[in-house]
Amino acid sequence: MGLLDVDHAIDQLLALARPVAEVETVPLSEAVGRVAAQRIVAPCDLPPFDCAAMDGYAIRAAGNNHSRSKRFRVVGESLAGHPARCAVSASTAVRIFTGAAVPKGADAVLLQEQCAEQRGVLTSTAPVRPAQHIRRRGHDIRSGGVLCPSGTRISAYQATWLAACGIDSVRVKRLVRVAVASTGDELAPAGAVLKPGQIYECNRFAVSTLLREKAVDVLDLGCLPDDSDAIGAALDDAAGRVDLIVTSGGVSVGDADFVKRVIEKRGEMAFWRIALKPGKPLAVGRIGDALVIGLPGNPVSAIVTYLLFVAPAVDQLAGAAPARALVLRAKIQHSVPHTPGRREYMRGALRMEDGELVVRATGDQSSNRLSTFADANCLIVIDEDATQIPTGSSVNAIPFSADAAHLLDVVDS
Ligand code: AMP
Ligand code: MG
Repeated sequence: MGLLDVDHAIDQLLALARPVAEVETVPLSEAVGRVAAQRIVAPCDLPPFDCAAMDGYAIRAAGNNHSRSKRFRVVGESLAGHPARCAVSASTAVRIFTGAAVPKGADAVLLQEQCAEQRGVLTSTAPVRPAQHIRRRGHDIRSGGVLCPSGTRISAYQATWLAACGIDSVRVKRLVRVAVASTGDELAPAGAVLKPGQIYECNRFAVSTLLREKAVDVLDLGCLPDDSDAIGAALDDAAGRVDLIVTSGGVSVGDADFVKRVIEKRGEMAFWRIALKPGKPLAVGRIGDALVIGLPGNPVSAIVTYLLFVAPAVDQLAGAAPARALVLRAKIQHSVPHTPGRREYMRGALRMEDGELVVRATGDQSSNRLSTFADANCLIVIDEDATQIPTGSSVNAIPFSADAAHLLDVVDS
């Protein structure tokens, strides 16, 4: 059976991921990572009034000749939260501080460094133009303006903007429910004393931890034994409760490819085996209404296939507009042997050197070596049809990002 190329595999997977329909209201403090169910508009102007951008004096510039030295009588003070009660005329000024409301009649702020006040009389020497050092009402956003389009996964930055507009709750899509399981008779939990042949389990940890960045509801199915009935029963049960099941291990060709067999028996396989390194054995299908993604067992393969497949699938299920990966071109500092056939994602260290982006792979890239992530800050992408990549070639590198943007853009760039 041939291998499916990565982009077709992602497309097929996304076609299977039906966005959740249910909507709920959450307090803004819980909105980060959630997906806006409708566009969010500003309920007021921001800033809500004209205010000073600097400390100084509010005066009237319009209609005045300010090309030469000018004197004003200081008639009041406007502090943040304590607006001046008086207005400003052509010959008066109000002492004003950053963030304070510009008094009636004033249309400019003189920098305090550019004028002198003595016994209530202000002398300014600098030229002044109307509107200088004033933040206009609605300058950040006007009432009714769109803060967040529908389908946005709300970032801490956006939530802050909503807070600045006085919004305290938002309508969001319900959390996507994801069941996470590991398979393997050899797996022991952290903290246990290892018996002969056992290893500590880490894929379930990796997947659950990465999923946290996506604000999902995780159902932990634990470590499942290499047993079709046990895996089948666990996945059947989970299928009725979640939108997505993510397993690891048991998808390679061998006596123990239980996950694939379970999907075939209890649901439907969509595809299996991708032209990808690491992560060739990846099983995608459905059981009941739940999408199932069987990740390979090797931890590096599990993480890379999480980034490539699970992350965008979760976005799609969540009703989020697809995240776009940032793809950088960097000069590779060593040659890379490559046999055409599979696209390779190496863990790399990207940095600026003499004004140029350079990248190098983080040592032996075997799919069991989590150490390849230790110094890594990106994935280096080697095209499927590439042969040997010479030192100094330009390659695509995708920085790891806090929001684990998926990697769909790799091919177009
Ligand atoms: P498998 O695909 O089940 O044959 O697993 C491939 C390799 O990954 C084997 O060396 C497994 O022991 C290892 N492996 C599988 N699952 C896990 C896990 N959850 N944590 C750590 N290593 C694992
Ligand atoms: Mg196994």
